[in-house]
Amino acid sequence: MSRSPSADGRPLLLFNSLGRRLEEFTPVHPPQVGVYTCGPTVYAYPHLGNLRAYVFADGLRRALEWKGYEVRQIVNITDVGHLTSDQDEGEDKMLVAALREGRSMREIAQTYTQAFMDDVRRLAILPATVYPRASDHVPEMIEFVKVLEAKGYTYGLPTGLYFDTGRSQDYGRLALLDREGVREGRIESVEGKRNAADFALWRSRVGEARRAMEWDSRWGPGAPGWHLECSVMSMKYLGNHFDIHTGGVDHREVHHVNEIAQSEAYLGDGEAWVRYWLHNEFLLFTREKMSKSAGGTIRLEDLIERGYHPSVFRHFTLTAHYRSKMNFSFEALDAAEASLRRLLLRVRDRRREGDGSGQRPDFHSTLERLKSEAGRRYLLGMDEAVSADLNTPRALALVDAFTQDTSLDRQEVRALLEAADTILGLGLPDTQVEDLSAKSAIEDSAVAEIERLVQARSRARAAARWEEADALRRQLKELGVQVTDTAGGTEWYPIRRQPPAV
Ligand code: AMP
Ligand code: ZN
Repeated sequence: MSRSPSADGRPLLLFNSLGRRLEEFTPVHPPQVGVYTCGPTVYAYPHLGNLRAYVFADGLRRALEWKGYEVRQIVNITDVGHLTSDQDEGEDKMLVAALREGRSMREIAQTYTQAFMDDVRRLAILPATVYPRASDHVPEMIEFVKVLEAKGYTYGLPTGLYFDTGRSQDYGRLALLDREGVREGRIESVEGKRNAADFALWRSRVGEARRAMEWDSRWGPGAPGWHLECSVMSMKYLGNHFDIHTGGVDHREVHHVNEIAQSEAYLGDGEAWVRYWLHNEFLLFTREKMSKSAGGTIRLEDLIERGYHPSVFRHFTLTAHYRSKMNFSFEALDAAEASLRRLLLRVRDRRREGDGSGQRPDFHSTLERLKSEAGRRYLLGMDEAVSADLNTPRALALVDAFTQDTSLDRQEVRALLEAADTILGLGLPDTQVEDLSAKSAIEDSAVAEIERLVQARSRARAAARWEEADALRRQLKELGVQVTDTAGGTEWYPIRRQPPAV
């Protein structure tokens, strides 16, 4: 960090899945930025993998606001149309859940939408501007399909009305598939389709059980295809062309490819519908994708019941870059908790130094509050991290560094903490270390003693006095503390109950 602090932040570089390269972000209508985030299908509780997708989208939103943009973010609620397979096969996931639970689809949607909203709040995910529900927008979806029909992009089969991907320019661009690849890579699951990749815009009635979510249309009673809602609701709330579309990588090959095909056919203006497509990688559990349908999922609620503060999960997800696969484990979660605890302990006496505005600061407002060269360098470092395709691990490392830098005065640390919080959303300026672990029942007064023992043990280990080190480990265990030796040093955390069997 030898560069002298400059008044301008870095340009924001984002990895665009369209072309798979880093690009400098420029919005269509600055300072406004429109972001559409594929929302939850509300047929089951959101699991930690889903929540990684929304913490990522929230991080993007925070980065844009940090850069001074005004963000309008739409997160849809899928309460109709998402089938048990993304390839137009199977039943509607909502219907399956309703039959399984013996409740109406409306009740199912209410329960799981509420659960999603609760998790959003607990994870300090900034609320979206609008959370539109698919089932409230079916008439608009029908109008959209009429336009595609008038333009000759559709054809009918007994099972519904289909989009003819053979007529679409550049179909599969986002998935990096050529037409050959598309033909080979997709399963022809519906009799009579012209191209294997063709997808349903409207699904005809397939049985009595579907009645509860049927709408009349010129193609007969039925329900909209899943991809339709995202095209229609994004354009309704963000305008025909908007800046960024996000989702998990599983949406990159089918759902988003189809959204693009139908939207560009609908608009027909030769322009790219959306300029930037960002996709988060999976959270894995025992090395497999955590998924609602496969079972074996863990919810935020499970973590809370086990005594973890939601910010610990947020911190955990930020320790990996959003484009890296990440394994969930309770050991890793404990390590995240230990880091967050150390951070909060370090800054506990720096709390009441806010600027009093109650506003989330951005790069420029923070720069004005920083007087020292060192303080400004940390700020620039954080800006650089955010600007490099949302490098949250690097931003976290800088927070670790500036909270240990004794050359900074209290006001500066406070300004940097607030800035870091705009980016990371960890509640650093206000969360108390006690909030973090009412459960772990380690008295604050015991912390100093624990750290003394941990350090004594490290010294013993360094001097190869193994018996002493083991004795200290046992002593720590009696205090309810477990230690792990990592490349970065020894970490300690409270011993808790065993993780739930999943
Ligand atoms: P769904 O509710 O299934 O429609 O998924 C909601 C969001 O979570 C989508 O953006 C998915 O791509 C994303 N997602 C699903 N499973 C995972 C996972 N294991 N890790 C990360 N993101 C996921
Ligand atoms: Zn979508």
